[in-house]
Amino acid sequence: MGDKNEVKPNRMGLFFVIGIIAIAGFVYWNNSRPQIQVIPYSSFQAYLERNEVNAVKIINNNIIEGTIQNGGGRFRTLIPYNDPTLLPALEEKKVNISGQISGGGFWGLVREWLPWIIFIILFVVFNRQAQLPQSRAMQFTKNKAKRFQNDAEKVTFEDVAGQKDAKYELEEVVSFLKDPEKYQKMGAKIPKGVLLVGMPGTGKTLMARAVAGEADVPFFHMSGSDFVELFVGVGASRVRDLFTEARKNAPCIIFIDELDAVGRSRGAGLGGGHDEREQTLNQLLVEMDGFDQKETVIMLAATNRPDVLDPALLRPGRFDRQVTIAMPDIKEREAIFKIHLEKIPLADEIDVEKLARATPGMSGAQIANMINEAALYAARYNHEKVSETDFDEARDKVIMGVARKTLVISSKERRMTAYHEAGHALLHYYLKHADPLHKVTIVPHGQALGMAMSLPEEDSYSRTRGWIEDRIAICYGGWAAEKLFFDETTTGTKADLEQASEMARRMVCEWGMAEGIGPVSYGEDEAPIFLGREIARHKNYSEDTAQKIDKAVIDILESSRKHAETILHEHKTGLEKLAEALLEKETMTDAEVRELLGI
Ligand code: ADP
Ligand code: MG
Ligand code: ZN
Repeated sequence: MGDKNEVKPNRMGLFFVIGIIAIAGFVYWNNSRPQIQVIPYSSFQAYLERNEVNAVKIINNNIIEGTIQNGGGRFRTLIPYNDPTLLPALEEKKVNISGQISGGGFWGLVREWLPWIIFIILFVVFNRQAQLPQSRAMQFTKNKAKRFQNDAEKVTFEDVAGQKDAKYELEEVVSFLKDPEKYQKMGAKIPKGVLLVGMPGTGKTLMARAVAGEADVPFFHMSGSDFVELFVGVGASRVRDLFTEARKNAPCIIFIDELDAVGRSRGAGLGGGHDEREQTLNQLLVEMDGFDQKETVIMLAATNRPDVLDPALLRPGRFDRQVTIAMPDIKEREAIFKIHLEKIPLADEIDVEKLARATPGMSGAQIANMINEAALYAARYNHEKVSETDFDEARDKVIMGVARKTLVISSKERRMTAYHEAGHALLHYYLKHADPLHKVTIVPHGQALGMAMSLPEEDSYSRTRGWIEDRIAICYGGWAAEKLFFDETTTGTKADLEQASEMARRMVCEWGMAEGIGPVSYGEDEAPIFLGREIARHKNYSEDTAQKIDKAVIDILESSRKHAETILHEHKTGLEKLAEALLEKETMTDAEVRELLGI
């Protein structure tokens, strides 16, 4: 922290205390002066009559002030009517008369109002100060960023199991932070912002801390939800504080967890009213742009909803790199178990591989949680060491806990997923135009329970009809495999069918690839009217053509589906082998599949 910022709040505080003391002193002084008693005019006349008044001051012709003899004290009275007897009476009693015009009134007013005036001035000055950037005068604008730097909290890549790909990508960030000059000399542009994308509990926060630990630089950690407060402007001022602090500590890492809390698309939804969030987001964008190449501050952010982020956040110079933090497969789960089991006393019979096998679909956080639960059970039952039964109970508890969050996969579901993905995967080998398979997995990814990824042989921007038809057939692979082995299909086919239908429709309407329809483009794409991402299609053809289009689309879908079914039927044993292997290994690469099937 800089000195300037340290001094300000203290000086402000001192100013405030002195002000309060001044007010209190003034009030005391004002009150301790001889009190003026306000008395009725008739009483004044009585005092005068009894010779108890010997000097008066007449103010503005309508107020009389004076002192009553014999300890009666000072008095004041209002002359209620134009009394012609007043002067003669005063003269008769030989009272010393003086006069005054209005001045006393003004000063009296000032005396009465002074405490309030001081108070108001103080309040205004104080508040103004609080709104200046970087001020810490008001506690609630204070930066809540946490900073880890001491060795006890230090995390390195070794503490993160698996995530080979992510670590590989983040290595570059680490090496830049370690030796920025090396990169600057080369004039190389280093990513300013890296977005870690992954499902909850996959270790995004852990990974960000590991990057800081590896590079051995300070780490400023703040959660997106910390920025969004009740008061408009607080979030923006926190962002400013965070970046100011970080700049002073460069090289360092700023980590914004749950970026989606601040980073949602601006103006999404009708009615707006997200002033605070938008201001904060704008400030964030401004600060990110404010970095120059010499500043070695790297921004990391984590989210499990990259789809809702404001596109401005993902532009070049901002979070233009994405690193996927994936759910662990069986081997990685084993590694996670190993890391976390180190800290607890284990019974001898514990088989880590078996634990990993028994926890499909669990994230790193859930595994860590399960191990903790197991230790709690062991303690409750006074076990010497954590035993297999403790783990069984803990697993059930964790699985029940997450059941509502849809992550849990029943064994039947898992089986169907394996056959489904095997169906997709196998088609890559037996369709003429299909891209080669990259890998196939039954580890959940986002909404999907599994995935069969292909690897295009070359970048290509235009596709042939054969390739698209094979692509559609691959989409049907999951559906066809489910039908072949279970005689029923699941809702897991929804995305596949959507994709297939979309491609078929475009073949007909946009790419002119359907027989009997001809190379004509039907309908045109419209930019989204509001902020919805959907694309509306304008109909510019007749009802008759519409029917022809529908028929052509269905023809394409049917023939691709039959093609898929035929191939899978022919290779039923291979399919079964692949599915069973997937249940075992969860993830398989192209080479592993080829070896298994001997192709
Ligand atoms: P996220 O931020 O993605 O929701 P966290 O980083 O908060 O996940 O993970 C929570 C905890 O789960 C971590 O503190 C760690 O104990 C455990 N964990 C998650 N992934 C891993 C991993 N790959 N290796 C070791 N521990 C992990
Ligand atoms: Mg997190
Ligand atoms: Zn599928």
